[in-house]
Amino acid sequence: MAPIPGSGLAKGLAVTLRTMTKKTVTEQYPDVLPDLPPRTRGVIGLFEENCTVCMLCARECPDWCIYIDSHKETVPAATPGGRERSRNVLDRFAIDFSLCMYCGICIEVCPFDALFWSPEFEYAETDIRELTHERDKLREWMWTVPAPPALDPGAEEPKEIAAARKTAEKLAATLAEPTEPTRPTGTTGTTEATESTGQTGPTEPTKPAGPTGPTEPTRPTGTTGPTGPTEPTGPTDPQGGQS
Ligand code: SF4
Ligand code: SF4
Repeated sequence: MAPIPGSGLAKGLAVTLRTMTKKTVTEQYPDVLPDLPPRTRGVIGLFEENCTVCMLCARECPDWCIYIDSHKETVPAATPGGRERSRNVLDRFAIDFSLCMYCGICIEVCPFDALFWSPEFEYAETDIRELTHERDKLREWMWTVPAPPALDPGAEEPKEIAAARKTAEKLAATLAEPTEPTRPTGTTGTTEATESTGQTGPTEPTKPAGPTGPTEPTRPTGTTGPTGPTEPTGPTDPQGGQS
């Protein structure tokens, strides 16, 4: 059947009239930023303190766009007689976002919660080499990762949070305990409490014990003092007389 002349125009006008009464959905980006869901796959953030360089993410990445370098370090024994341990130290962690297909496998397989999705998406570059984000840049993305959604009411408390809460409670209880004042060693008896006047003045300085003068030597008991010189006697008479 041949189309009725002017029917196309009428259809177009009908569409125009319909959409005129609807709320607009066009977003004025970049003047107005889009309101994205918190779990949007924008960019990957690295929390390197959690990374043990297990290489699982790099091995599982279907695009082979995660680059990790590390070296081994010997950790001395924690206790005397213990064994030394060796651990991996991260030297390089980079993701090439020009290859990444945002599948999220690396984040899923990381056993130590070192990788997270951030909703940030404004990192377009004019040079493709700039799309390889090194460790420092990946770390900066971490600060844009939103907090995890709240748990369902009645859900079991996560183990990490329960352990942290118990430690904080123990510490608070220890700090709240009144500590008994210790008596300084070398003092005897109780000291009389002084009346509190609300304001204590400076205490009078005690006079330092001055040097004592030389003491007279005491004569040891049982001994007699030195006797003076005796007068010399004259020569004796060889005949028995005394001159
Ligand atoms: S999101 Fe997928 S493609 Fe991108 S780095 Fe992770 S595993 Fe590789
Ligand atoms: S899987 Fe996690 S812990 Fe292992 S190397 Fe990757 S980011 Fe680090």
